[in-house]
Amino acid sequence: MFSLEEQARYARHFSLEQVGIAGQEKLKQASVLCIGAGGLGSPSCLYLAAAGIGRIGIVDPDTVELSNLQRQILHSQSSIGQSKLKSGASRIQEINPHVKVEQHNVRFSATNAMDIASQYDVIIDGTDNFPTRYLSNDVAYLLKKPNIYASIFRFEGQLSVFAPHLGGPCYRCMLPEPPDAGSVPSCAEAGVLGVLPGIMGSLQAMEAIKIILECGSPPLGRLIHYDALSTSFREFNLRSDPECPLCGSNPSITEPIDYQQSCSKTQTKSNNENIMEQPNEINVEQLKDKLDQAFDGLLIDVRESWEHNVSHIDSAKHIPMGEIPEFVPELNNMGTGQELLIICKSGGRSARVMDYLADQGFTNVYNVIGGMDAWSKLTP
Ligand SMILES: [Zn+2]
Repeated sequence: MFSLEEQARYARHFSLEQVGIAGQEKLKQASVLCIGAGGLGSPSCLYLAAAGIGRIGIVDPDTVELSNLQRQILHSQSSIGQSKLKSGASRIQEINPHVKVEQHNVRFSATNAMDIASQYDVIIDGTDNFPTRYLSNDVAYLLKKPNIYASIFRFEGQLSVFAPHLGGPCYRCMLPEPPDAGSVPSCAEAGVLGVLPGIMGSLQAMEAIKIILECGSPPLGRLIHYDALSTSFREFNLRSDPECPLCGSNPSITEPIDYQQSCSKTQTKSNNENIMEQPNEINVEQLKDKLDQAFDGLLIDVRESWEHNVSHIDSAKHIPMGEIPEFVPELNNMGTGQELLIICKSGGRSARVMDYLADQGFTNVYNVIGGMDAWSKLTP
């Protein structure tokens, strides 16, 4: 039952067929865990609270800093120096005093993750680092709870819902292991436009509410990519990996793992090491030999469109260097052991793309040294 005050508060929900009084009751009975009260967690918590989620848990050991305020709208000038939990809880209470806020003043780690996450229905991954992102995914899978994933990078965001118990893959099906330290710039290094986490965190709140209401279709097995600069949403299909170390048929991960904050690879693949000891290069003669035979790998031309228009190899797939990250899921679908040959104009950009893809877990990537310049001399 809702009080008169609550009836007035949620009137716009009551008049939606998909929510109504019954749906609002579901929201009131529901609990959501926000891992992180930063850029993504801020809008998530605010909208979940406003929507009338009964219990919201926040895990965050940090204090509010001035540089957070550009994007972390849960906090304000007056809360600088306070714990993010205290700041967030008081802001949530201001928005909706009916919400119960649970404060978990710890770093989310393998020792506490199962205990904390088991107290909630839905998990929102609002983390900004790989160790916690993998932990969030793993714990959600082990507890059979939906893990609502988002991440941001400069002007680009990604969203998906990982819930293999409802269908679709987990995060590890996409990226089995965390990348090496230094290969992915952190928020502090890379910069982020403040509105971007606002948009992605709001999408996370929407997905949490949809799952609780059991309405619409969550992006299970779909990776939604948002490019703020071009104002475009693109979508990639993600497949469950039968070899996934977590949700695959023969899992090697059966309990939470603490990766080092440095994100070093704890389980390096032996074939990966072997390849890394050799120079990952082929020359254009070797490339020609491969293409003349039945080459079943993929040659990727990472030059810009205008360069590609001047001349290109017909069988090469054209993906400009800047767009490579968003093609990683697609390439992953082909298998990380798939042979990938990277070519650019003279071999510089392709070497960087090769390093990037190796960091993403691809084990069979080669740089075509000399690039198209060398190719055009070989095949004038
Ligand atoms: Zn998986």
